[in-house]
Amino acid sequence: MAILPIIEVPDPRLKIVSTPVEAVDDEVRQLVADMFDTMYDAPGIGLAAIQVAVPKRVLVIDLQEEEDAEGKPVRNPHAFINPEIVEVSDERRCYQEGCLSIPDQFAEVERPDRCRARWLDLDGKPQEAWFDGLMATCLQHEMDHLNGVLFIDHLSRLKREMVLKKLAKARKAAA
Ligand code: ZN
Repeated sequence: MAILPIIEVPDPRLKIVSTPVEAVDDEVRQLVADMFDTMYDAPGIGLAAIQVAVPKRVLVIDLQEEEDAEGKPVRNPHAFINPEIVEVSDERRCYQEGCLSIPDQFAEVERPDRCRARWLDLDGKPQEAWFDGLMATCLQHEMDHLNGVLFIDHLSRLKREMVLKKLAKARKAAA
């Protein structure tokens, strides 16, 4: 188990376009395991490899929407290697998004409501599926990271500056 440091804005590495994984080997599987540990520890529901400073097209998601009898979140981990979004719905939805690289800041982002993705699983096998609701939002948010895009890049300049100003203020208060 390894919890990796998460990089935050304005770290320039968050703008890197990540490169595809050439082979799904033990090194990649170890990265995925460390990314899950890091995401659960944060805690968060999605993490892209570049957020732990690895510029590879790898992301992990676990919405942790269900709870067990003791009220603990039930884990339902999804790992996506070399994911691509191949189709999106015309219908769009707004969701209040946050990001572990922009801590404690949230803003409404509009994205397609559903998306169809293709990716490799941990055995290197190709997979394809439609996603909707929060899973579709989260997948598109994480896919953006692989292309160096943050959720605040979808906002108007004014709203983006407001989020960054609030973040700077919160950091100052915490210092
Ligand atoms: Zn994010």
